[in-house]
Amino acid sequence: MLTPGLIPNKEPLIRVGLILPEDEIHSVSITFSDSQCFEIETGNQLHPSCKNNDQFNLSLVDGKLVTPELEIEDTAITIIPSIPGENLFTTLDGITAGRGFHWEKKITASYWGVLEFSVKDGKLMCVNELPLEHYLKCVATSEMSAQCPPEFLKTQTIVARSWLLANIEQKHRRFGFDICNDDCCQRYQGMVHCTEASIKSADATFGQVIMFNDQICDARYSKSCGGMTENYENVWKGNPVSYLISVEDVDTKGNAFCSPEIVPEERLKTYIGNVDEQGQYFRWTYQVKQAELIQSLKEKRNIIATKILNLIPDQTGASGRIIDLFVEYQDLQGNSHVIEIHSEYEIRNIMSPSFLYSSAFSVEKTEDSNFLLHGKGWGHGVGLCQIGALGMAISGYGVESILGHYYPEVKLIRLYSK
Ligand SMILES: [Zn+2]
Ligand SMILES: [Zn+2]
Repeated sequence: MLTPGLIPNKEPLIRVGLILPEDEIHSVSITFSDSQCFEIETGNQLHPSCKNNDQFNLSLVDGKLVTPELEIEDTAITIIPSIPGENLFTTLDGITAGRGFHWEKKITASYWGVLEFSVKDGKLMCVNELPLEHYLKCVATSEMSAQCPPEFLKTQTIVARSWLLANIEQKHRRFGFDICNDDCCQRYQGMVHCTEASIKSADATFGQVIMFNDQICDARYSKSCGGMTENYENVWKGNPVSYLISVEDVDTKGNAFCSPEIVPEERLKTYIGNVDEQGQYFRWTYQVKQAELIQSLKEKRNIIATKILNLIPDQTGASGRIIDLFVEYQDLQGNSHVIEIHSEYEIRNIMSPSFLYSSAFSVEKTEDSNFLLHGKGWGHGVGLCQIGALGMAISGYGVESILGHYYPEVKLIRLYSK
């Protein structure tokens, strides 16, 4: 695992969680790119051949991992490619994507490197250990498409590398891996998203990170700031971070880099792929229905409300993101109460079953007692604005200008070379 605070002088290995105990996956099908070139390790035993099986199934049975084809039964099974590099890979089916969101689905994905299957808390877990630069080749184009301009993809790769090596969040340390494979950390869906463009951007920026005061930057990013980025401390607990401060995301003419003036909606579709029909992330409206919000308060806060009377923003951050929201409601007896929802994350979670685009909105109560939210931006808004960075790249800005715009005063440094 990565050591917090350690600045690597050569390419490190990283550990990515692919199957988490919370996924409750009980079996997985495993396919090799070449069955002759993989070894399987269990406990202290090495099984040098996969018995010429290109494919086998691994299931969790009574707390043990069982593979009938290979006649193996153990609590840990590791698959190791016999030659390092990019020629050998393993394909898994039934991997969770969009974990915890309404668009959660199962995907089939292929991975370079070592796969470790184990049992954690009585559940199946799988960790992929691979060189960082291999991982990065898959990441830049997992969220944004390979059609994006090279200066954007290079920027995105440097930001992903910096965030990962800064290693501040460590959400999964307990399970023994650095990051998971989903939006909770960084979206990583294996080699399928590795394209010529993402390989080029990883190679061109090999080992490069942004640094501030001799520390690797905790380079946060989100889809669209909405015109102004947010201060770190308004989204996460802790002290202000000097390079994660609110900046106006506009060009010299005052147009926001993330606005349709610079990145037209039609082009955005090519750049980020599965934009939904509304597709308005710079400015949007969203209707919150009485019944929906009542249900959400019941499910997520255990509050029995019969009517929502008002939604009143209390505190807002620099980007307009609401940090504290008052919800005034009526109970079964007809008495009114007020609860306060803290944090942009919780506000987005409660306001929409599909997780509201952002907490930067104003509230309009409509005649039918529902609420219309007039919002801007997509995501927490701290650090790099992905659509804005795309807009800057389209406008001709290079990697260093883009990084300097979103992370003031940082330095671009190469930590290691090939
Ligand atoms: Zn995670
Ligand atoms: Zn922006």
